[in-house]
Amino acid sequence: MEVVENSILAQLRKSGRLPTPKGVALEVINLTQRENASNHDIVRLISADPALSARVISAANVLLANSSRPIVTITDAVTVLGARALRQLVLGIALIADYRHGPCKQFDYQYFWTHSLLTGIAARHLAAHARLAAAEEVFVLGLLGNIGQLALVTVHPKEYGALLGQIKGKALKELYRHEHDQFGCDHAELSEAMLADMHFPKIYQVMVRNFMQPEAAKVTEGSRDWQLLHLLHLASLIADVCLAGQAERGKLVATLRLQAARVAVEAGDLIEIGDACARDWLGWLALMNMGAMHIPSFAELLNQSNAADTAIEVPQWPYANQDNYKMRVLVVEHDRSMLVLLESMLKAAGHDVMTARDGVEAMSLAELQHPQLVISDCLTPQMDGIALCRKLRESYDQRNMYVIILTAQKSVDRLVEAFEAGADDCMVKPLTQKIFFARLRAAQRVVRLQEELAFDREQMLRFSKELAASNERLLRLALTDALTELPNRRFAMERIEQEWALTKRGGRTLSCMMVDIDHFKSINDKFGHQIGDEALKAVASILRQSARTQDVVCRYGGEEFLIICPDADLDAAYQGAERLRLNVAALSLKNQGINIKLTISIGVAEKKDSTASIDDLLNHADECLYAAKGGGRNRTVIEK
Ligand code: GH3
Ligand code: MG
Ligand code: MG
Repeated sequence: MEVVENSILAQLRKSGRLPTPKGVALEVINLTQRENASNHDIVRLISADPALSARVISAANVLLANSSRPIVTITDAVTVLGARALRQLVLGIALIADYRHGPCKQFDYQYFWTHSLLTGIAARHLAAHARLAAAEEVFVLGLLGNIGQLALVTVHPKEYGALLGQIKGKALKELYRHEHDQFGCDHAELSEAMLADMHFPKIYQVMVRNFMQPEAAKVTEGSRDWQLLHLLHLASLIADVCLAGQAERGKLVATLRLQAARVAVEAGDLIEIGDACARDWLGWLALMNMGAMHIPSFAELLNQSNAADTAIEVPQWPYANQDNYKMRVLVVEHDRSMLVLLESMLKAAGHDVMTARDGVEAMSLAELQHPQLVISDCLTPQMDGIALCRKLRESYDQRNMYVIILTAQKSVDRLVEAFEAGADDCMVKPLTQKIFFARLRAAQRVVRLQEELAFDREQMLRFSKELAASNERLLRLALTDALTELPNRRFAMERIEQEWALTKRGGRTLSCMMVDIDHFKSINDKFGHQIGDEALKAVASILRQSARTQDVVCRYGGEEFLIICPDADLDAAYQGAERLRLNVAALSLKNQGINIKLTISIGVAEKKDSTASIDDLLNHADECLYAAKGGGRNRTVIEK
């Protein structure tokens, strides 16, 4: 690749028209490239050209705007800037001075240089803001970033002019393609080759080759080179906005804002940097004897563009994998461009996104919408991201949300605080998409697991409730007699054991009655089994109604009933038994016009000290029942 570019460069050079520094500037450049060149030699050489000297001193002062000591001599300039930066500065100034005008009618030389200057100025401010690289060198990088285009138009003014007319209004990619077809390389490649030829460091060559299309560059996302590349791109967007006409400004500002968010330059900083650029630029224009131009304040520009945000093309996110578990995501961010950026990344990954501009709004949205993931900036107004996180963790419903806190490079020390407040993850701005999407997928795994766990827990809860209900039903069935709906014999035996135990402990009395319907067989025989059943049910119901509340009436088997009478001595039990007997005798069932009358016989026994066991007690009651039957039926016999 390098060979091809160099050969094109060689061909261009043969034309003798390639933009190169001349005179003193050329000598300075040659000199500074020599290893044994002293600062003294450089100073002497530049001082020989008063016009260049004046410009270099002024330029150095503009570049070092905040320096406490103004530069007044070339000696100062070379000391403060260093030989390399000084050489680059001389180069830039010389090129502007010599190539302000040219023969190509379609090429706007004035625009080219004002744009290049602005890009350089903006790049310097942005690099200083991000504390990246030597700001003075970044200035020259911005200034000479498109030098390849100047070369093409200088060597081939006619052909390049025709080409410009042809591709007017088309995308940069188209221009590159046509340049390739016609001249064998595009102007970005040529810029790279020219910087190599001028002995700029390798990384600067890579920058000029790629800064107009930073996404296509092969640099590691998030690295210093990546940041510098994006800052240069941002700088050229600032230049675009400053020089744009009213009509296209809105869209350009929106693009600028989004690119700024990508490298974590927030709106406030962007306004400050933009305004500083405009100020510096006027100084430079005066320095280079170029006409002044008006640029509106950046605050004004940024506020005007609000409506245009929807119309801009958001960047492509090749790392956003759509084949994801879709989440409801709440983004909390006060910087609108950052918000637009995050929203576009999340939507690209297929998520549902809701947004809030401050912590309070976020909290009420969280309560209403139950997002699964909350991404909040650390420094949101009203309630900051960390306080929001703490609040979410305190609330029962929100405590399971996955929370990611975003922080600026300069407040990295708040990370620990964020984790202590319950954040699941933290990310430092600027966000790199590769890492952002990787961490998003990690969040998805956790959210998904949590959802599955919650689902399983809900299922289990439902099953166990159903099981408890069905167990209860089964138990009731197991202990209930189906015909009379009275407790059955099994229940009776369990219950009498409990009552037996209670009498032992508390010295309480316990009696029981054994009840048998008299001549029941004849009912069946006369009226049929079905009527027999009805009669059984009627007796059961009368027994239940006539017994005391605390008495337990059970169907003991066939037409026999056992009635357990807690806290009843023999006398009380006898009276109770008589009440039952009389009530049954008073009952009359009607069938086909015939009244069916029934009677019962009852044997009553009380637990005495001599009663050895439950069986003993029941046997005594049974014996009494037998005696009642023997005595003529329809009577109660108590234990003697
Ligand atoms: P006693 O006065 O000596 O008790 O005479 P009895 O006829 O009542 O006594 P026996 O033991 O000879 O007969 C009991 C009858 O009760 C026999 C059986 O058919 C009837 N029986 C038992 N369980 C049921 C039932 O669930 N439904 C019906 N219809 N009859 C039943
Ligand atoms: Mg009977
Ligand atoms: Mg019987």
